[in-house]
Amino acid sequence: MKQPAFAFDAHVALQEPPAPVFVRNPRARRYVVRVSADGVVRVTIPIRGSKRRAIEFVERQRTWIAAQLERAERERAQPRNVMPPEMVTALRAQAKRDLPPRLLELAAQFGLTVSRVTIRSQRWRWGSCSRTGRVSLNWRLVTMPDWVRDYVLIHELMHLKRMDHSPKFWALVAEACPNYEEARAWLTKFKTVHPAA
Ligand SMILES: [Zn+2]
Repeated sequence: MKQPAFAFDAHVALQEPPAPVFVRNPRARRYVVRVSADGVVRVTIPIRGSKRRAIEFVERQRTWIAAQLERAERERAQPRNVMPPEMVTALRAQAKRDLPPRLLELAAQFGLTVSRVTIRSQRWRWGSCSRTGRVSLNWRLVTMPDWVRDYVLIHELMHLKRMDHSPKFWALVAEACPNYEEARAWLTKFKTVHPAA
């Protein structure tokens, strides 16, 4: 019995990998195939290589490419950075318990007065500070190393002295938290795998 045309087409569409992108690289020594996270297949053609050889190379790597494409597709389908809700609840409770006393301890150390501490779930901030001395802290701080968490707390506390990010502000931070640059670097790296910035 003849298969309906659409079924055949669907089969072809599923089996055929996307057309590879060929890139000549005079510094490359050999053919290299890569599959990017968005499912693009890139083939590097070395200095003495040809497109015909590159296509043959892709043919030989077909199984590997198919596996990589599948993996990329699976990863794209998965929502990233999603924590199980019960874990979020537990961490938020821990944050409410641990962060305010630590903030007050540091405030006392620097002779500063905090009028109120709130634990929040800001998506794009680790913390904030108002002119009236209210400090909001992101519960995700409890998932960080202590020295990074302390930097964020000190950063907010120093805003009680200066409400800007001027060199004078950073000098205050540097004095209170000598490894603040390391902590900032850590946060920058963390940002890429974490929803809050
Ligand atoms: Zn700030």
